Amino acid sequence: MNQQLIDRLRAFHGHLGPFAMLGYRAGKLALAHLQAPSHFGIRAHVLCPPQTPPSCFVDGIQYGAGCTMGKGNISMEASEGIEVTVTVDDGGASVVIRPRPEVYSSFAEWMKEGSDETAALRVLGMTDDELFEPLA
Ligand SMILES: [Zn+2]
Repeated sequence: MNQQLIDRLRAFHGHLGPFAMLGYRAGKLALAHLQAPSHFGIRAHVLCPPQTPPSCFVDGIQYGAGCTMGKGNISMEASEGIEVTVTVDDGGASVVIRPRPEVYSSFAEWMKEGSDETAALRVLGMTDDELFEPLA
């Protein structure tokens, strides 16, 4: 089940956790919605709490959408809630992806019941509708 994805995300981020997986899913959803390629020609602006584990969301976005610090096409702003806006360059379309707060507020409990990995796999197994608010 998506073993390559799981191994690569773990290798990139250093561990497999629910916030990184949530960021990966958000990045993928944004690209699919915009019908945009990853890595180039897009930029991501991420709002999230500035400390781990919620900030692990940013690494998931980097992995899922290919917007990275080195290319300068991702920025982060401290916030209580979590969301990402992905915009196609040169005045293109944009989409705001908002994870459901009731989902990520359960992550601490899921990690306590199992582990960061089991919580991440639970996120991977959920549908976009379960994870994210309807796209604006
Ligand atoms: Zn993490």
